[in-house]
Order: sequence, then structure tokens, then C-alpha cells
Amino acid sequence: MRRRTAGPSTLAIHGDVPARAAHDPVAAPIYQSSTFVSPVGSSEEVLYTRYGNNPNQLRLAERLARLEGAEAAIFVASGMGATALAHLAVLNPGDHLLSSDWIYGGTRQLFTEEFTRFGIEVSFVNPDKRREWRSKLRKNTRGIFIESPTNPLMRVLDVQWLAVLAEAEGIALLVDSTFASPINYRPLEHGADVVIHSVTKYLNGHSDIVAGAVAGAETIVEEVRSRMKVWGQALDPHAAWLIERGMKTLAVRVQRHNQTGMEVATWLEQQPKVRRVHYPGLASHPDHALAARTLDGFGGMVGVELSGGPRAAERCLRALRLITHAPSLGGVESLVSEPRFTSHAALTPDERAAAGIPDGFLRLSLGLEDAADLIEDLTRGLAAV
Ligand SMILES: *Cc1c(COP(=O)(O)O)cnc(C)c1O
Repeated sequence: MRRRTAGPSTLAIHGDVPARAAHDPVAAPIYQSSTFVSPVGSSEEVLYTRYGNNPNQLRLAERLARLEGAEAAIFVASGMGATALAHLAVLNPGDHLLSSDWIYGGTRQLFTEEFTRFGIEVSFVNPDKRREWRSKLRKNTRGIFIESPTNPLMRVLDVQWLAVLAEAEGIALLVDSTFASPINYRPLEHGADVVIHSVTKYLNGHSDIVAGAVAGAETIVEEVRSRMKVWGQALDPHAAWLIERGMKTLAVRVQRHNQTGMEVATWLEQQPKVRRVHYPGLASHPDHALAARTLDGFGGMVGVELSGGPRAAERCLRALRLITHAPSLGGVESLVSEPRFTSHAALTPDERAAAGIPDGFLRLSLGLEDAADLIEDLTRGLAAV
């Protein structure tokens, strides 16, 4: 693990960019080129955008590596691309992966439908049953995968505890840290080996790009890079350029998301039509103590259970004017979605209730609007229930 060399705001804006010469542009140019001139008669590395060595791709990678305290990082064309490649970097046919049960639906599908086709076995652990991490380990277990904080209950997992287990077993711990962003949590500092991001969310932050990233030791990132070259998830240079612009404000954006998250979650908890609020910053959250100890901020994602169930949720959604009904998260615009139609659509209502996500559950991604306006919108929504 590499120590951070400057504060997160400075790193997000500048990375390790060398001193600029007179007349250099302050904003990076876009190298919108698939290929680059190769010196004749040279065995130097060939520059080609699919290889991930376009300057716009490299600038981002270096910046995220600094923010996560990683040796290296790589950006790819989606969060799913990042998740797939990170696992292919540490798993081979015949290997076994131990995964948290509380993960993104697309990731679960990747594990159960795709990895099994390649002879990679996956078992799921309910993180509330800590013993299962050990009891489900096999001789061929090569990796542990978790997400933290989780969707949509914002559960916070004990990465340090899992890192000790992974280290003792000589296996890799991979953490999807999308909901935290490196501003609120840096899994490598707690012993994880690999960090995965859906850059689509907080890192880009403007709901206009789909991208992903992997950070960790140079050897792992190099494995990801060689696979990306042939599986083909390279990030387009224009998207990389926009992500760089988005990432410059990552620290201030996340600080604001943290403030608004706390303010809105606290307000929601006092509303009579709300049965329960899931936000790690609230004392009522099951992981509040762990979150307070390990996170630098509680984020802008809030889970809300309405007392009136699915009909109440629908009425509330129809009455909202500012908060947009759309999947995804982490952007400047506030969004709301219902897990019963998105992440947990594959479960029956009873299964969802058993998982703690009863119908009538709303997942809020609080953006950067004024908290007072968001509360006014939610007041309107709840009044319609
Ligand atoms: C959105 C998301 C993904 C998938 O990312 P894409 O950029 O949509 O491919 C993976 N993990 C988490 C936690 C997510 O929220």
C-alpha cells in the first residue's frame, strides 16, 4: 500500500501531474485518437487506446491510485467491466470465490451465470453470520468479494476483520467501494487487496458517463490490464476526459453529499409516515458504531421504508418534483428508485421483506441541491401518501 502524498482535494485535482511549462493548457487536452505514432525500428510499448495507455486513461489511473493509496489503478468502460476483470485477475477455472450476499444485482448475475460457465465456483455468505466466512471456505477458495456500504440498507462491513481472514488463508480480498468513494473510505488502508468502483457513480458524479475502475497492487492491475487488452473494455478517451473533470470536484461533492445525507436522514426519521430510515450516520443503524469508527463520512445514500407499503411509495414518487425517479446514484441530481423494480426485482415480495427490503422501500441518492429544497420535495411526497 502506498501512502497518500497530499490531501484528497489536491490529489483529485492534480494527481502527480508534473510541473507545467509556459503555455501548456491548464485543463488536459483530449487525445481522441485510437492509435499513436510508433518510432520505427523500436521495441517500445505500442500506444493504442484499447491497451489502456492513451494519456487520458493514464492520467485518471494515476489519480485514483493516489486517492486510494494504491500502487496502481486502471479505468475501464463500466463498473461491471471492472468487477469482471478484477475477478479474472485473481481467479482461474477450478477456483472458488466467497461472496457477500449483499451485492449489486449485475455482480450476482456475473458470478452465478458467467463465472460458473468458466468453472469458477461461487458461494454466498450472509455477512450477519460472521462464522459463515470461515465455514464456507474451501481448499480452492482464492478470493473474498464484498460491497460496503451495501445497497440499499447501507450496511457497513468490517473490512479489517475480513482482511485478517483473507491474509491468513493467503487469498485476495476484493471490495466494491462504489458507495463510499475514496473520500469516505479507502479499503486498502484496512487491508483489502483490490478496490473496485463503478465510476459511473460518485467518481464521475454527473450522471453522464458509464465507467469503472480497479485499484491495488501493480501486479494485480497488470493482470487486469492484460485481460482488458483482449476482452476489450477500454475506456473511450472523451469519457476519460469528462471523468477527469468530474473527479476534480470529488472531495467537495462528497463532503456535501455527506452533509445533506445526514440532514435529510435525520429529518426523515422524525416523519410519522416513515417506518424506518437506513443511514449509517444515524444511531439507529445497526452498523453505526463501525461506520463512525471507519468511515470519513456517511455518504448521500439513504434507504427509506414507508409505513404505507408499495401504494404509499407510488403516491410519494408521483408527487415528487425535484427528486427524479431513476436508477443509478452518485450524481449532482437527486434520484430515487424502488428496489422492488430495480436491484431486487428478481425476488418475491416475501423474499424482499425477509431481506429487510419490504415493498414500499425507497432508495434515495441525495444530490447537491439545497437540503431545504430536498426536504420540501420530500414533504410534498409524504403529504400525498
Ligand atoms: C452501479 C454499480 C455497479 C455497476 O456499475 P456500472 O458502471 O453500471 O457497470 C457495480 N457495483 C455497484 C455497487 C454499483 O452501484
